[in-house]
Amino acid sequence: MKIADRVARIQPSLTLAVSAKAAKLRAQGVDVIAFGVGEPDFDTPDNIKEAAIAALARGVGKYTPVSGTADLRKAVAEELNAAHGTKHGAENVIVSVGAKHSLFNLFMALLDDGDEVIIPSPCWVSYPEIVAMAGGTPVILQTRPEDRYAFDHAALARLVTPRTRAIMLNSPCNPTGTVYGKETLRAIGRVMAANPNLLAITDDIYRRLVYGVEWHSVAKVNPEVADRVILVDGVSKSYAMTGWRIGFCAGPKELVKAMDTLQGQSTTNPSAVAQAAALAAITGPQDSVALMNAEFDRRRKVMFERLRAIPQVKLVEPEGAFYCFPDFSAYCTGKIKDDVALAEYLLEKGRVAVVPGTGFLAPGFARLSYATSMKLVEEGTARIAQALKEL
Ligand code: PMP
Ligand code: GLU
Repeated sequence: MKIADRVARIQPSLTLAVSAKAAKLRAQGVDVIAFGVGEPDFDTPDNIKEAAIAALARGVGKYTPVSGTADLRKAVAEELNAAHGTKHGAENVIVSVGAKHSLFNLFMALLDDGDEVIIPSPCWVSYPEIVAMAGGTPVILQTRPEDRYAFDHAALARLVTPRTRAIMLNSPCNPTGTVYGKETLRAIGRVMAANPNLLAITDDIYRRLVYGVEWHSVAKVNPEVADRVILVDGVSKSYAMTGWRIGFCAGPKELVKAMDTLQGQSTTNPSAVAQAAALAAITGPQDSVALMNAEFDRRRKVMFERLRAIPQVKLVEPEGAFYCFPDFSAYCTGKIKDDVALAEYLLEKGRVAVVPGTGFLAPGFARLSYATSMKLVEEGTARIAQALKEL
């Protein structure tokens, strides 16, 4: 079978690959602890499920408008405006099949071949690949754990060329858990002010998951360039709705219209019943979000302390999302040649699934999700400590 060249240019999603591997081992009866995929272990809150059942009962099972139902688009616009100080209406919002799909439509609508997108690294596995799928060129802005993964004006300004379309932001960050402070966001605003065509794309899927720090919106911190900030968000993480597949994008009307055209010739509308559920998630009571957050925070502290106690492991305390991103490079020597081999070793020897840092452009590191039970956090980190000791 001849497969198109475009597929060969794309790396498969490593986060999804690790989760499939762990699931396969588990099906074979191996007791694997999965710190791989970033997915809340909680069930979708009852009020959301009930809204979906009620929607089915009243006959929501037909096509909706391509960009989503009018009431969901309006609710998303209002909720995003409250968070970002923007003035979006329903016409500035398009609902898609998860935030990953929002990003796919967005880059397909924005990029011509060779257009550049600046991506601070370590970064989520899918950003460089989606940019490349759309014909763009990812330009990596390297950040360092010593700086708590922050970057300054000079580091960003240096990478801007006449081909730069956008800078990609993700705060809290997957995989580092970094939450950008106002200073970093102001540096972005200054670079945007100096480059009138430069856009910022902000993926805020983890914005409600912050622990003891405040989340800031790049649009709110830089109102003078807010009309060039494109918002990407969704319900997967905050509302434990990964499988429902609903994400959003808000931005200029022309852009949303272009994304609507692409979506109208590919997936049509996102699932009607999932849209009804997402509406209940956003507009309904938010207490389950707070409860889940409090539990993530407890697990975060335990995972962080346990990993930090392992000799030669370096780790910046995560402030948001649900990942720890330790530097295991001290253990990537001899028969373990790199972080990919180390992740394999931890799976075989320790029966713990982690995602190798290489997927996030950070060789020597590993990403561990603490969106799993406290018992498994304790047991899994103990297994890792033991497996590393044996090296
Ligand atoms: N952005 C980031 C940073 C993520 O970690 C994820 C994980 N799924 C997504 C976007 C996409 O989420 P979804 O497609 O489930 O809405
Ligand atoms: N975003 C989650 C992760 O990074 C889910 C899997 C994916 O979409 O990459 O693990």
